[in-house]
Amino acid sequence: MFTQYLLEKMERSFWPYVSKDVNDPKGCWIWTGSILKGYGRWSPKFNGISLYFRPHRLVYELWYGSIPDNFEVHHKCENKACCNPSHLEAMETGKHTTLHHKGREYIKRPYCGKGHRFTPENTRLGSQKGRYCRACDYLNNEKAKAKRRER
Ligand SMILES: [Zn+2]
Ligand SMILES: [Zn+2]
Ligand SMILES: [Zn+2]
Repeated sequence: MFTQYLLEKMERSFWPYVSKDVNDPKGCWIWTGSILKGYGRWSPKFNGISLYFRPHRLVYELWYGSIPDNFEVHHKCENKACCNPSHLEAMETGKHTTLHHKGREYIKRPYCGKGHRFTPENTRLGSQKGRYCRACDYLNNEKAKAKRRER
């Protein structure tokens, strides 16, 4: 599936969205493009047709070859926005579902839905309960400001 054309397209419009977090001891490669339900989404246009890729699966296939049917790509680092190939592992769908349904990663997920690490500095506690990500607060704030400016 990795034609020269796709690889060139990735060079231009995929890798620029991958940010290697040097402050993260685990060294996640964070997808900073669009995110859907915690997972990245890359939708490049090929001859006017929009395709849809999940960055972690794409990187997995680039490094290790195609993902067998009935397999999911699991994040050993528990950061769904990460696409560092050494943090990815192909796992049978059934096994993967069981693992996630145990709630292991939801008890204390180390990352927010956009892949920012919940460090003490980056965590804001809600007035009721729950944690909020300060990086996301900041980004939402900037977005709101930009919106206001547009008007
Ligand atoms: Zn990672
Ligand atoms: Zn998983
Ligand atoms: Zn965040």
